[in-house]
Amino acid sequence: MAKQPAEHIWFNGELKHWKDATVHVMTHAIHYGSSVFEGVRAYNTPDQGTCVFRLNDHNRRLFDSAKIYRMTIPYTLDQINQATLDIIRENKLKSAYIRPIAFYGDIGMGLQVPFGTEAEVAIAAFEWGAYLGEEALKNGVDAGISSWNRLAANTMPTGAKAGGNYLSSQLISMEARRHGYGEGIALDTNGFISEGAGENIFVIRDGIVVTTPKTAAILPGITRDTCITLLKDKGYEVREENIPREAMYLADEVFMCGTAAEVTPVRSVDGIEVGAGGRGPITKEVQDMFFGLFNGTTEDKWNWLTPVYK
Ligand code: PMP
Repeated sequence: MAKQPAEHIWFNGELKHWKDATVHVMTHAIHYGSSVFEGVRAYNTPDQGTCVFRLNDHNRRLFDSAKIYRMTIPYTLDQINQATLDIIRENKLKSAYIRPIAFYGDIGMGLQVPFGTEAEVAIAAFEWGAYLGEEALKNGVDAGISSWNRLAANTMPTGAKAGGNYLSSQLISMEARRHGYGEGIALDTNGFISEGAGENIFVIRDGIVVTTPKTAAILPGITRDTCITLLKDKGYEVREENIPREAMYLADEVFMCGTAAEVTPVRSVDGIEVGAGGRGPITKEVQDMFFGLFNGTTEDKWNWLTPVYK
């Protein structure tokens, strides 16, 4: 659990000290989950110094999530992008995990939020290492399929990165830990693989890479898109199709990916070894290409990096 305060948080257009960036107990989002948020990372690169990875894509998704919930963010995308860069600078961070969040504050109780009610917006930035641990990056995590399904398509939109959705993620990850797994993977309500508690899933067999489609109750991850793009760029065939549970048992390689988890191999599923039970060669290649964007060995052909201090 990350609890490494930086000095400042951007809060409704002002810089606040970490301890002063607080909300009222009657905050709507605490009672009803009415928040949308992002997780973004910045890396210290050799050529351009600290760079935010896919800044505009993340903040665009923040606005998309807000639109789904008819939530008004009283700033432009450009202003939120600038504020994201500012808060890293203010805290003099070299690398960072950044958390932009828009939420309904102390607007009164009741589910009906009058249209046009403005959301409060905060952006925090702090240091945060490997989410599933350094060891997992090298040797993989043991994952278990959860007894909890992801949301059905007509219950809550999984394409929105909304606070309330993370109650589902918490059930999945708590159950996984209780059963001794490093992470939990959920099926969708059709019984196909959906995603990890906070990661998208890739399954590889005979050199063909498959990831779950957007219709499998996933958050379409920006890291997922990054991995698809990097793999296709290397000439791999990448398919987006429904993945049955047993395909994970029979895979040569499985990996999970997300902003926090980055690219993490899965070495077993439900106690069954995946392939040789460690990090597979294509997974290693994806990791090398992904981390290569930040250590200078992968050319950033896609303009994914935004320098913070230049
Ligand atoms: N699914 C869920 C449920 C997530 O929370 C995340 C992390 N944001 C992802 C997938 C991966 O998304 P991204 O690569 O954009 O971080």
